[in-house]
Amino acid sequence: MFRMACEGRGSLARKLRGVLLVVAGCAVFIAAHAAPAAPAMVDAQRLIHADAEPGQWMSVARTYSEQRYSPLRAVNTGNVAQLGLAWFHDMDTTRGLEATPVVVDGVMYTTGTWSRVYALDAATGKLLWSYDPKVPRAHAVNLCCDVVNRGVAVWNRRIYVGTLDGRLIALDAATGAPVWSVVTVDQSKPYSITGAPRVIDGKVIIGNGGAEFSGVRGYVTAYDAADGRQIWRFYTVPGNPADNADSPALQRAVKTWSKPGWWRLGGGGPVWNDMAYDPALHLLYFGTGNANPWNRYIRNGASGAGDNLYTASIVAVNVETGKYAWHFQTTPGDAWDYDSDEQLVLATLDVGGAPTPVIMQANKNAFFYVLDRRTGAFISGTPFARQNWTKGLDAKTGRPIPLGGDIYHGESGRVTWPAPFGGHNWQGMAYSPQTGLAYIPVQDVPFLYAAQSETDFKPVTPGWGTAMNLAAQALPAGLDPLLQSALYADAVAGKLVAWDPLRRRAAWTVEHALVWNGGTLATAGGLVFQGTAAGNFRAYDATSGTELWRYKLPNGVIAAPMTYTVDGTQYVALMMGWGGSAALAGGMAVKWPGRDFHGYLLVFKLGGAAQLPAPQPFNPGIPDPPKLTATAAQVKAGNRFYNQRCAVCHGVDAVSGSSLPDLRYLPNAMYGKGFEAVVLGGVMANAGMASFADVATRQDIDDVQAYLIKRATETRVSLRQPGWWARIKTLVFRAVAPLANWLNGLLH
Ligand code: CA
Repeated sequence: MFRMACEGRGSLARKLRGVLLVVAGCAVFIAAHAAPAAPAMVDAQRLIHADAEPGQWMSVARTYSEQRYSPLRAVNTGNVAQLGLAWFHDMDTTRGLEATPVVVDGVMYTTGTWSRVYALDAATGKLLWSYDPKVPRAHAVNLCCDVVNRGVAVWNRRIYVGTLDGRLIALDAATGAPVWSVVTVDQSKPYSITGAPRVIDGKVIIGNGGAEFSGVRGYVTAYDAADGRQIWRFYTVPGNPADNADSPALQRAVKTWSKPGWWRLGGGGPVWNDMAYDPALHLLYFGTGNANPWNRYIRNGASGAGDNLYTASIVAVNVETGKYAWHFQTTPGDAWDYDSDEQLVLATLDVGGAPTPVIMQANKNAFFYVLDRRTGAFISGTPFARQNWTKGLDAKTGRPIPLGGDIYHGESGRVTWPAPFGGHNWQGMAYSPQTGLAYIPVQDVPFLYAAQSETDFKPVTPGWGTAMNLAAQALPAGLDPLLQSALYADAVAGKLVAWDPLRRRAAWTVEHALVWNGGTLATAGGLVFQGTAAGNFRAYDATSGTELWRYKLPNGVIAAPMTYTVDGTQYVALMMGWGGSAALAGGMAVKWPGRDFHGYLLVFKLGGAAQLPAPQPFNPGIPDPPKLTATAAQVKAGNRFYNQRCAVCHGVDAVSGSSLPDLRYLPNAMYGKGFEAVVLGGVMANAGMASFADVATRQDIDDVQAYLIKRATETRVSLRQPGWWARIKTLVFRAVAPLANWLNGLLH
């Protein structure tokens, strides 16, 4: 009650300076939470015993066990329907927001786009400071998956952030002023940092990403939190075999890479996302990304054989020394971009009648793994999403049983689930010890994996070695657009799955309208929270999956919520901002009427009544392209170039699924000299569109424009009001889509 009075009558209180009680009371209130004398005073004991302070959220997944579970219960199944917006902060972006905020002693620390950091009063939303590391915008060309960041680490009055261009920066928690900064990567190579650091006993631990590009060799590094001095570094793949003498783990790994000179392409295996820690075992756990390039026939030679350790693996190292402890490879010889970087969750499960310390992961490859975290021993692996890349897992070892033969079916390709977006990706997965369930943001998306010929493969940016122009046509070319969309809608699904790791099956499932939904939060109030791609923030009964609350948002959500208390009030926070790999690739993303891509940090509480500003709807209009005069061969070449080089940001098939320009809507004046000035001349490098002069010829540019004019013309036709015949066809195609999809799978 007193806090309400203080907030509500702040200006009145200023006028009544003589009213001693009110002024003194507000001063106490401010000292209690808004400006702690020494903010972010976090140490080893506080982090290890995080459950003793349930109102704090001191690390992106709250505890070293990374459960994204809160013991708070003031907001619960009985009253969640009264949840409303308490405050919000404009994140000054229309790109993806992926961070989970951290809250320590009433101050919230979070990140936005371009690795920017924010400190806010966690009760009122007042901005205390912000810090912009000024990442060069042209660096965006080195990013597979948007200008995103997944959060900060806090330790001993400092805030730590990794930047897109590979720096690790320590900030003063009181002012946001930089204390030290180290460059953690070779900045001449396409490395990037999007993951949140972790701090363990005075060591800041950070990895990096970039295995969609050539030249990236994955590693994770521990720096001294006090001064940025490097303590240890663990490489996830060998470098030059001649240089691995001091590492028995890398010497063992060398044997799984057979093609001479492979290491010159980097190898991949980056540690780009979450890490977990077991203080009793002194083990740090992280996942590693795909090997590079994706195409294992280019990477490993004609047979494709070779496990390529330690890519697509879960790895444990000693936190003091960085020395290898164990690994479990989820996808040996990966060819599908099945990174193993998804969240790793520690828990104690009853395995065969004995309480067992386990590590769990809902992997990109669609299998839910349970391992003994002391040794890495396989306990179970079960599909939680649609998959046809393996016949299954060996029951004893967990090793996938190969399909046999050429998995890509040469250059014609094979339709495979999951897509590179994964059955589950980086979106945080909550695990509730109360229900024993893991809450997984799941998606079923197919992808046409097809080999790029080795002569076409150029180890440049990006360098997959798979034919992305074919990938853009996972459905047979030349089909009626209505049938195409019906087939696609049937083949994809976005869901929230409550997974029982012991019974190895879903306890309940909620189907979503779209794929690429947000991460999850579980609470002791019996709730699971999730934001969706279609712009809803929802709360479910954690046991039954019954929806108990829904809040309509003007934008899609990919981040995970978190919760905390200030002065006894429980808040639930969420970053809203549509983006990331699947959003950029587009296609499945829907620009619904009234959608606003503006990003906000949203904080809710019971009875909250704040209102977001009115949405500024995105309306691209109807494209008005120049007349298509190019030959079919030119359009085809343009399709090939576009989908290989441009689709990663502007969308597969030139359908942008984000706020980035949808090139079908280019103004007429942008074709010709304007197009050339941007793509070859780099005149928009400061806005994030780097010059492609090093990979594109003038002919390429002409071809891409021909392709875009064709796509714009098709789009214009499809946007016309459908007649009665088209409406009937839509109904028929929706009915036959499941059968047609089954046949399509057989054909590929
Ligand atoms: Ca990857």
